[in-house]
Amino acid sequence: MTTDNSSLAAAKVQLHELELELSKRLEEVDRSDNRPKMDSAVGRLTFMDEYQQHQMAEHGRRNAASQLARVRAALVRAEAGTYGKCVRCGIDIPPERLEFIPEAPFCIQCQG
Ligand SMILES: [Zn+2]
Repeated sequence: MTTDNSSLAAAKVQLHELELELSKRLEEVDRSDNRPKMDSAVGRLTFMDEYQQHQMAEHGRRNAASQLARVRAALVRAEAGTYGKCVRCGIDIPPERLEFIPEAPFCIQCQG
C-alpha cells in the first residue's frame, strides 16, 4: 500500500463529511415535495416552471444518490485497505485525483 496512513486518515475524514453532506441533501429533496401539480388553477407557464424545477431537483437527487453510493464504496475500500487503488486494474490512483474526487473508484485510464 503506497497511500500513507495520514493521507488515508485524511481521505476517510473527507469521505465521511461527503457522506453526511450527501445524505442531508437527499433528505432535503425527499422532504420538499416539488412534484409538478396538474392544478387547473396553475397556468401553463407556471406548470412548465414547476416541471423544470422538478426535473432539476430530480437530476440533483440522482447525482447525489450515485455519488453517495461511490462514497460509501470508497469507505468500505478504506476499511479493507484497498483505498486509492483502481478497482478495475489495481494500479494506484494519482493522489491529485483523489484529492479532487476522494470517492474515485477508477484510475484515469479506466474511467475514460
Ligand atoms: Zn484502472
